[in-house]
Amino acid sequence: TNQRAFNFNAGPSALPLEVLQAAQEQLVNFNGTGMSIMELSHRSKDFEQVHNEAIERLRTIYAVPDNYDIIFLQGGASLQFSMIPMNFLQQDGQADYILTGVWSEKALEEAKLFGTPVVAASTKDNHYKHIPTLDELNLNDASAYVHITTNNTIYGTQWKEFPTTVAPLIADMSSDILSTPIDISKFGLIYAGAQKNLGPSGVTVVIIRKDLLEKANTNIPTMLKYTTFTKNNSLYNTPPTFGIYMLGEVLKWVEQQGGLEKVAEHNQAKAKLIYDAIDNSNGFYVGHAEKDSRSLMNITFRLADEELEKQFLAEAKAAGFVGLNGHRSVGGCRASTYNAVPYETCKALADFMVAFQAKQ
Ligand code: PMP
Repeated sequence: TNQRAFNFNAGPSALPLEVLQAAQEQLVNFNGTGMSIMELSHRSKDFEQVHNEAIERLRTIYAVPDNYDIIFLQGGASLQFSMIPMNFLQQDGQADYILTGVWSEKALEEAKLFGTPVVAASTKDNHYKHIPTLDELNLNDASAYVHITTNNTIYGTQWKEFPTTVAPLIADMSSDILSTPIDISKFGLIYAGAQKNLGPSGVTVVIIRKDLLEKANTNIPTMLKYTTFTKNNSLYNTPPTFGIYMLGEVLKWVEQQGGLEKVAEHNQAKAKLIYDAIDNSNGFYVGHAEKDSRSLMNITFRLADEELEKQFLAEAKAAGFVGLNGHRSVGGCRASTYNAVPYETCKALADFMVAFQAKQ
């Protein structure tokens, strides 16, 4: 059956049905090999083609300039919190960290092991309800890099405009990569765990400007050097082959949607349904994020009364909505509306919210 859930999970999260079906069709006999993609050698022609096509598709979709490498790693976005300072920070060097949530705090903590990260701005005092304005940033031009989290999965905030920095701008895009067109050339390094907009968990995508590699530290373990992956086309050791295959299928799907502009329009329309339900509720639903910082990927809200909130979540669950509980660290409600979450699913939630309010 094709009884698909109303899936609002924060990650791992919904994948496009067409992608799952394509994978299913090819699962036991990929490309006439008589083997699944998981059973092929990572050195085989068939796999290498999948691997190289995924890289090329991502390059085309984002118009990634030639002076950037695209690599596939493992260890999730969390390992990038460590690899970035390990590769680019000297013991006596500084790096700027802009704190917009728990994930940026975690990135900062790892950097303390390798050098002297400096908090260049933080919205913690405002419960991470907004993204700092560009003139609130205390950037140091001599820093090794500036680190930001473009979308704050837990709080539901998202950068709308990126700072122009002298030091390379490094961005954790785990929860909004591929959701809207961006100018890659503003960034020194972009990283994202795959399990939201890119595919299943297990592969981490990194887009890195080549000149940064020349300055990278060399006295670190082989598997933690970016150059190990850039020099070997991400095939130094066995990569997460199934995850890369699925990423390639998701990228094909993005192309079929009409590319990032179309995907972004779709995401705006989806998020609007749910934000409208919040804004038209006369305070029955209260959004966490300030309006100009609102995320199009994670919509966070509370109900005015905690008992009612529990009832809302219980009834939503009974009605077939999955993943609406807020992150365990903050509570409340959160609807993650990543690329693959259909418009109809968002409409169903907005209708449910209106109906739930009406019967109180
Ligand atoms: N950064 C952001 C913005 C995230 O949302 C997450 C996971 N939800 C992480 C980092 C950590 O990712 P991973 O589990 O891939 O290490």
